Amino acid sequence: MKFEVVIVGGGHGGAQAAVALRQQRFEGSVAIVGDEPEIPYERPPLSKEYFAGEKTFDRILIRPAKFYEDRDITLLLNRRVTRVDPIGHSVLTAAGDKIGYGRLIWAAGGTPRMLPVPGGKLPGVQVVRTRADVDAMKALAEAATRVVVIGGGYIGLEAASVLTKLSKKVILLEALDRVLARVAGEQLSRFIEGEHRHHGVDLRLNARIEAIEGVDHATGVRLSGGEVIPAELVIAGIGIIPAVQPLIDAGVKGSNGVLVDQFCRTSLPDIFAIGDCAAHPNRFSEGAVIRIESVQNATDQAVLVAKAICGDPRPYCVLPWFWSHQYDLRIQTVGLSTGHDSTVLRGHPNSRAFSVIYLRRGKVMALDCVNAPRDYIQGRALVAAGISACPATLSNPALALKDLIPTSPSNPPIGRNHH
Ligand SMILES: Cc1cc2nc3c(=O)[nH]c(=O)nc-3n(C[C@H](O)[C@H](O)[C@H](O)COP(=O)(O)OP(=O)(O)OC[C@H]3O[C@@H](n4cnc5c(N)ncnc54)[C@H](O)[C@@H]3O)c2cc1C
Repeated sequence: MKFEVVIVGGGHGGAQAAVALRQQRFEGSVAIVGDEPEIPYERPPLSKEYFAGEKTFDRILIRPAKFYEDRDITLLLNRRVTRVDPIGHSVLTAAGDKIGYGRLIWAAGGTPRMLPVPGGKLPGVQVVRTRADVDAMKALAEAATRVVVIGGGYIGLEAASVLTKLSKKVILLEALDRVLARVAGEQLSRFIEGEHRHHGVDLRLNARIEAIEGVDHATGVRLSGGEVIPAELVIAGIGIIPAVQPLIDAGVKGSNGVLVDQFCRTSLPDIFAIGDCAAHPNRFSEGAVIRIESVQNATDQAVLVAKAICGDPRPYCVLPWFWSHQYDLRIQTVGLSTGHDSTVLRGHPNSRAFSVIYLRRGKVMALDCVNAPRDYIQGRALVAAGISACPATLSNPALALKDLIPTSPSNPPIGRNHH
């Protein structure tokens, strides 16, 4: 078996790479080799509408099966790539199939981190990455009255929000002193904590987990002080490990992900990496090499690689964005807030519609918008243009963020700082 382009991983990045190749009129053979049994589907609903039973699986497919047939995209499902031979230009699957490639696009995402404590792998402890995970989690949740969620990142918080809607008693344990510590500033963290508590979640910060209790099924979580929290289901949302071992074994540079350049090229010829597993220099992190775990990043990098394969290489410089739904909150994020030196609050959390604007040396670098879609849309332009603005202007809800963007040299924006 040989294909001009082999894509490893049939998730957001992998599916979009195949779609984009055909959109770019690439006529060569294309195969997606994926280890899941399903055709590519969206992952965000797994902790939202799909978990809540509000969307069926058919509704979260990235494309219907016919789409791939019509465009001659070969789907090799249920196949796990275990080795890459960069000299022979082929990959090997766990079942022993050898698949040759002209170009290889590695879009394998990540594997959920397991709880590193005794009992962390007991049945009843559930991670949240695939449809199979969430089907198992749904079945366990149906029979459960008490659920412990470990991890106050977006996935844990979204799961907690769905579970309270399903009338479960939820205990959420976060190891740090605030939720969303890795991705958001304190104002958003405290607001989100308040919302969860308001909905009845027993949210505990600085939680130290010693073990998962149980013999052949989880029955509770033991904390370092000795307290045991009983639960029939334990959900672990504590991050992922990039799925890159076969590439690293083949000699590609990287460790926490695969190192790629601004064209998503790895250190080996004809091998690209995209999505959650690609550590890339990002313009919006001031050039620092980072991995971004978002649909936007996976799909935009996929398009970029498809274009490069079709002879139109462009450096990656797309503005990062992200979203989350919890209760009636629509949280939208644009830009990267890591490294901010000040924040401005626009609107008030009590109104449940507000934005946190992140600045570095006076420049707008990111926004977290809660039920504030207008701020989000207009704020995007501020981040993209690297606008500097004074806090009093940014926080004034009577002034639209879009008015801070210069339209012409003779029409300067209001309240803009000049450095
Ligand atoms: C529950 C959940 C909720 C999320 N919510 C949001 C959200 O609201 N907004 C947002 O922007 N992002 C969200 N994300 C993140 C987003 O889904 C990921 O960033 C995105 O899926 C990354 O795409 P990817 O192609 O890199 O990896 P994935 O979509 O994970 O696809 C990788 C695929 O490769 C397969 N694979 C791995 N190793 C191999 C191998 N060796 N051989 C063959 N196949 C392999 C995997 O099984 C998987 O099918 C969420 C993620 C999860 C899990």
